[in-house]
Amino acid sequence: MNVRLLYEAAGFLLGLLFGSFLNVCIVRLPRSRSIVRPASHCPQCNAPIRWHDNIPLLSWLLLRGRCRDCNQPIPWRYPAVELATALWFALLASRLYTVLHFYFFSSAPGTPSSYAPFAILNILAVLLLGFLLLGLMVMDWQTGLLPDAFTLTGIALGLVLICSQAIFLGPAEGQVLLPPNSIHLTSVGAATDPGNVFLTGPEALIGGRILAILGAALILGLIRWGYRALRHRQGMGLGDVKMLAMIAALLGFWPAIVSLFFGAMAATLYAVVLVARGRASSGSRLPFGSFLALGGLLAAQFGDRIIDAYSQLLH
Ligand SMILES: [Zn+2]
Repeated sequence: MNVRLLYEAAGFLLGLLFGSFLNVCIVRLPRSRSIVRPASHCPQCNAPIRWHDNIPLLSWLLLRGRCRDCNQPIPWRYPAVELATALWFALLASRLYTVLHFYFFSSAPGTPSSYAPFAILNILAVLLLGFLLLGLMVMDWQTGLLPDAFTLTGIALGLVLICSQAIFLGPAEGQVLLPPNSIHLTSVGAATDPGNVFLTGPEALIGGRILAILGAALILGLIRWGYRALRHRQGMGLGDVKMLAMIAALLGFWPAIVSLFFGAMAATLYAVVLVARGRASSGSRLPFGSFLALGGLLAAQFGDRIIDAYSQLLH
């Protein structure tokens, strides 16, 4: 019996449920509608959706992408969001298995299980980030809006999570031992950052994360301001600034910078392709938030390794 596979399957199923809820958020939040009421209904004919037609992924396939009542096509975006959320949850369930195995079932010395909550909260932050970023990616693409209900809530939850993590810090800085290839803290003064003489322990962890949020917002805020000053038009909204702050709140400062780098590269690539195919001019609007969200997803999965490799290059 492959236990890791069991974790991944459970993560996938849970992700399908959250993906289904995310679809509701994507449709209703940009229109400032309640995400609780009314119950799901067809956007074309308003017919309420039967429970057996509301099963993530499966119902869309069984109905062949059409509403049972009015036969209008249901956009492929619905199953795509469900599938993407499910895959994200499965990936992190796999990481959860690695962490639990490392702390509770390996006999390696120096792996006290009292540090397990610290690592588990890291995974929870990345799980939440993926959910929020997938939603923001689709919302910006479709409506050009990045609702505060996602970005500001994400920042608040990031702070709650980092404060919770501070409870489980080791007795001295740098003493939280994390399994190899796990999510590291890389913000200023974080637990794995040695050599901080001014602040230690929880102060460094929480203070560092607050600085990370402010720093990320400041950097993108300056880019936004500079763009407006040079081009005399708005290049990006405040929503993008809040989203980068949210990535910093949940991952730390350097992963947020990696997100910005990936996002800018992807957006540039997309713009070049559009212009080359004659489908856009230099004045067309680009949903930068969608690309930034993509950058955030990549940074959450590969950011540590990129930052590690880069800092080794400099030492
Ligand atoms: Zn319908």
